[in-house]
Parts: sequence; structure tokens; C-alpha cells
Amino acid sequence: MFEEAKWITGSAPLDDDRTVPPYLFRGAYQIGKTVVGARLYASALGCYTVRVNGRRVSDRCFAPGYTQYDQRVLYNEYDVTALLTDMDKQGKIRIEAEVSGGWYAGRLGLCSDRNRYGEKRAFVLQLEIAYADGGSDRFVTDATWKVSADGPRRFADFLDGEVYDARKEAPATWAPVAIYTGELPKRIEAEDGVPVRGHERLCPISITKSSDGETLVDFGRNIAGIVEIGPFQGKAGQEIVIRHGELLQSGRLYTDNLRTAKAELRYICRDGVQSYRPEFTYMGFRYVSVKGFEPTKDNIRAFALYSDMPQAGSFRCSNEDLNQLQQNILTSLKANFVDIPTDCPQRDERCGWTGDIAVFAPSAAFNMDITRFMKKWLKDLALGQTDKGVIGMIAPNNGLSKKKTDNFLLNFSLRANDAVWGDAILLVPWAVYMSSGDDSVLRDCYDNMKAWVEYEKRMSARFSLGDRRYIWSFGFHFGDWLAPGDSIPASMKKAKWTSTAYFANSARLLSRIADILGKTEDAVYYRLLYSRIRTAFQNCLIGPDGHIKKGFQSIYVLALQFDLLTDRQRTLALDDLVADIRRRGNHLATGFVGTDKLLFALSDNGKTDLAYELLLQDSCPSWLYPIRCGATSIWERWDALKPDGTVHEEGNMVSFNHYAYGAVGNWLYTRLGGLEATAPGYREFRIAPMPGGDLSWAEVSHSCPYGEIQVKWETKGDVFTISFQVPAGTKAHVVLPDGSEGDYTEGAYQLSAKLSENREA
Ligand code: BGC
Repeated sequence: MFEEAKWITGSAPLDDDRTVPPYLFRGAYQIGKTVVGARLYASALGCYTVRVNGRRVSDRCFAPGYTQYDQRVLYNEYDVTALLTDMDKQGKIRIEAEVSGGWYAGRLGLCSDRNRYGEKRAFVLQLEIAYADGGSDRFVTDATWKVSADGPRRFADFLDGEVYDARKEAPATWAPVAIYTGELPKRIEAEDGVPVRGHERLCPISITKSSDGETLVDFGRNIAGIVEIGPFQGKAGQEIVIRHGELLQSGRLYTDNLRTAKAELRYICRDGVQSYRPEFTYMGFRYVSVKGFEPTKDNIRAFALYSDMPQAGSFRCSNEDLNQLQQNILTSLKANFVDIPTDCPQRDERCGWTGDIAVFAPSAAFNMDITRFMKKWLKDLALGQTDKGVIGMIAPNNGLSKKKTDNFLLNFSLRANDAVWGDAILLVPWAVYMSSGDDSVLRDCYDNMKAWVEYEKRMSARFSLGDRRYIWSFGFHFGDWLAPGDSIPASMKKAKWTSTAYFANSARLLSRIADILGKTEDAVYYRLLYSRIRTAFQNCLIGPDGHIKKGFQSIYVLALQFDLLTDRQRTLALDDLVADIRRRGNHLATGFVGTDKLLFALSDNGKTDLAYELLLQDSCPSWLYPIRCGATSIWERWDALKPDGTVHEEGNMVSFNHYAYGAVGNWLYTRLGGLEATAPGYREFRIAPMPGGDLSWAEVSHSCPYGEIQVKWETKGDVFTISFQVPAGTKAHVVLPDGSEGDYTEGAYQLSAKLSENREA
């Protein structure tokens, strides 16, 4: 692609967003014949939009998407035939493009510097036209194109927002483009992701005055997206400032948790009726404060932006708090699936943090069809792997770009070797494989998985002898990140336990994947590795009394779920877990690392009642505490808001839209709802609801590759009734609360059972 086209740019030596506004490019071609087909291909070092004859070629945002730019950049393809029917009488095609720094040359999270992947923005285009007479033409970007940095968009950046001067809508100065001669990513590849688009449209639920006189608009839900204003009558020079925030504190917009992200739109009016919608930025917000403009319910609205994945699943039950929790999981999923899976959409971060998606992927895959989205990201995760096998903490990994940096965090992310975060290279493909049945995701990542597990093995063996070679304590780890009550260093100190457990799990999972891919020797080798780590765990991390030394909730959970214990040790670990939960007044104490498995460790070991007590707990820390506080999304910290309504002291690391703790969704769907894939793509699945708490019914549905699966159960007195639908080509194994079981193929069924028999004392 683009063999004949030139990459075009402006003449500034360095495209720094602060000094060089987004570039406008324009080109024109003369055609005199009837067009029957036209396809446009475009890419950019930066983010672009394109218009043909004044109309946008697509409603997608942030093309061409974020990839490991030193390795690859994507190009997009559009059918523009319909746009060419509007040509003027002379048969001229006008093409205009706008290019901002975007992820390539704009500001990126983890550091505040710009131009991580390159100093210059650039744009390339190829237009293929087929004529009615059988002829064809190819038009490409070249030296005939013109450029202007004098357009209305004076500034555009993901983290900081936009400045738009409507008085400059017809730029005065155009110059010949410069031909980009700098380095290009190694590969220019056809788009393989999912376009970001505007979805839910939110209207204000209230418009009020803040205590400092600003107008506050509440959109009712914490989203990632943009605000649009207009149409309204403006006066030339009138300046409108819109600031975004996730919550209010003391009646004012709270923005401290955005850290250095400005998250601001500044719009300068021209005379007349006008509207404005930002193009190259998005924010994480529920509220905006507006100056210079009187918002009404009709002239301001918000749009949630996220990658256009089909919704795949649903969950509802008789408990409205849990329904709100499910709603919040979905909201935070959408808010953080913006071309890549991010940690959060609001502060100066928004990176593809690997640990977050490692634990959340199964919940995401139940709700949305994430296959294509994830396969793109996994490519970049794999491309970011170093030759030592390190899988970075973030992907794409901007620490790998050529630009040298003194930034500690960046250097760090390059060398990061953390368990759980790096284990994403196995956990995410596995979740995608199980939900989609697509084994190419395993094949494509297999060598990277192996290189990562070998890296884990080398790291564990460093400076150690005997069994200790399988205990991973060397290097940097996040440990049980953000475990409640722990300082950050305290959660990191738990890494010896959590990393070793995850290392074991990855060795075991890799042996399973090797079996699936027919790599028998590898399967045997990694099974053996798993059993060595398991033995080492027992010999080094468990005391002579059979209890895990210095145990804590997450490690009891991981040891149980990853099968690291003997039968006696299992009993003790479960007792210790239960005792710890009881000692805390029925509260969880897990961080990013144990939370997704906590309820499984209880329910799958005969403690379903306690699982429900934790699930329905609504004082802090718990899943329902944020719901009591009015949360509309999942919080980064259990106690992001304190019971008195003020923000957690560590205000610079408190996101109100972080999906990691939403990983409990997986338990809601597979245990409470009862639907779980047991073979890839739900070719075989289990229906085994575990009713409990005060719940009287629940329903889950999931569109798998074979069709829609539906499960609905209800209890009346001690009678449990379930109805379910099994798609053609699949088989369901159904287990009822009284222990009765059966296999079912295509069809709709209804069964009943007595409840009381199997309820725990
Ligand atoms: C991010 C996380 C991430 C973590 C690493 C944070 O700043 O927001 O979600 O996983 O750093 O521990």
C-alpha cells in the first residue's frame, strides 16, 4: 500500500502540539468521467480525519488507531463512491484532511513529555477510482497538496483537550506540503482493530451553579467521551470554556485526580449560529463546568466514545444493587475500551495497563464481543516484548520508542518484569479463546507466551538455589496492588507470594495451550515446571503447621484457585481465608490480584453463603459500597470516596472509572447466573447457578458463535426453577442446586429442583 503516495507534512522542524496546531491538508483532482466505484486508503503518524467534497468519509474517531508505532501503523479503507456523486460540474474532487499529534506525537500517559514515537506528524492517502467506461485512476498524496497550520483547531491533545477558534474556519495561509522523509514504522498494515465511535448520547440531568459561580452540568453517568454544544447564537470573540470532571466536591468540579491532564475545551465563537464538537480528544467525566455559554437541556450533550464492539451478554437479577453493579461494570468496560484497553479514561495516564485487563478480560468477554479488539491489542503487546522476554506493564509500550528519556517511569516500563501484568500475554488470549473459540489467538501469541514464562523462570531462579529457584521474589512487582488498608509498598511486599502463584498458573496454562496446539513436548515440560513451582510453594511459603506463612486474603485465594496446595493445606487456607473475612466484619481485603477470584475460592469450596455475604456487603471495602455512594462506574480503589463523601487522601491516584474490580462480573455470570463455557466458544457449557443471599431470580444471556444462550432461574419457597435455551451445535451440562445433573442439546428447557437439600448450614 502507498507505494506511489508520499507521506506529507508541514514545514515545522518539530510538531509539538503546544506550538504547532493540527495540520490541515488539501488536495484536488480533476476527473471528467462517470465514477462507478471509489475507495480511499489513508493513514497518519498522528490521528486524522478526511473529508471528500466537504463530507467526512467516516464517523470513526482517532484513526488510524494506537499501535506499537515503532513497529507498525495501520491504514484504513473507506468506500467513498457515494461522496463522488456530489462532484461539481467541472468534475473536481476536493479532499481535506486534518492531522493531530494523537498517540503518535501527542502527550501520552506515564510521562508528560510529547512526541514519544516521532517528531513529525504526517499523512498519506491513496484514492482508487473505477469509471463507468471500464477505466480507472489512482490519486495519491504528493507535492501538489497544500498544508496549513492556520486552521480553527489551534490545539488538540488527548489529555489536555482542544482550543478551537471558529473565526479561523477559512484558513488564510496555505503552503505547499513538505514531503516527510523521516523514519516510518517498520510495517504499514491494513486495519485490524475496531473503530472508535460515538455511542450513547447523554442529555443533562441537571444544570446548576457551583459555589464559585460556574455553571455545572451533570450528565448522570461517568463516561469516557466528549461534549457537544450548539446550535447556539454566538458573537465573534466570545470565549467558552468547558472543564471536565468525574465528581463534585464542596459543590465544585473536582479535578485534582486528573493530575496534569487539563481536560478542557476552549471554543472561541464567530458571529452567528454555530455548534462545536471536539475531534481529537476525549475525557473521563460525568460533570462539566461551563463558562461563557448558558447551557440548556437542548444545547449541550455528551457522547460516550468507545470501540464499536457488539454487545454479547446481559445479566439481571432480583437485587437492584447488583444490577447497578453490572451496569457500572459495563460502563467502565466501555469507557476503557477506546482503541486499546486502558486503565482509566480521565487522568494523565490512559495507558494499556496489562495487569488490569489480565484480570478483567473474562468479564469483558462475557459482555461484549472483544475478539477483534483484543487480537489487535495482543499483536502490539507481543511486538512490545523485549528480546529478553519481558512483557511490558503497558501496551503499546511507549518506553520502547527511540526517544531517549530520563523519565524514571518510562525506563521502568521498558524493563518491567511484573507477574500478573506480564501474565496478560497468556490470560487475555485464553479469555478470548474460551469466549470465541478462535484458536488463532493462541497460535499467534504462543511464542510470546513461552518467552514470557521462560523469563519468569529465569527471574525466579536468580540468586537462588534448590526450591527457591521457583519462588519469584527478584525484581520489581506490584504485588497485591491497592489491597485495602495497605500502603503501596505494603501491597508490593506481597509479591513473593502473588508472583510465584501467577508464575505457577502461567506454566500450567501454557502446558494446556501447548496440548491444544499439539505441542506435546512443551506440554509435558510446562506441566513439570508447574509441579515444581507448586512443590516449591509448599516447601518455601507454607509453614510446618500447614498454614501459608504471612498469609493474606489474595494468596489464600490464589493458592486455592491455582491448585497449589495439598488437601490438608487447602482446608487450612480456606479456614484462614474465612477467618480473615470474619475478622474484618465480613469484608474483603483483596487488591487487583485476588479480587477476580475471591468469590470463586469461596463458592467453589462450599462457602457460597459467605460469597454472597461479601457480594452483598455494602460497607467499605465492598463492591456495593460505591453503589451506596451513588457510583455509576467502577472505582480504582475500594475507598476512592470516604464515607464522609471526601476523596481518598491519595487524590492523585484515584480514578472513578477503572474496570479492575469489575472483574467480579465473571462470578456474577458464571456462578450467580450460572453460565460458563467449558469448551472454546461455548461449544460446551455448564449451567450451574448457585442461588443465595436474598436473590429470588437471575437471568443471563450470551451470544456465542453458535447462537444465543439464555438462562433464567427463580426460587419460590424451596422450589428452584430454571429455564434455558441451548443453541444448535452446542451441548449444555446442567447441574441443579439439589445436585442432579444432565446433558442437553439444542432446544428450550424448563426444570425444577428442591432448594433446601444443598444449602449450606
Ligand atoms: C494504573 C493501574 C496500573 C498500575 C500499576 C496505575 O497507575 O492506573 O491501573 O495497573 O498503575 O500498578
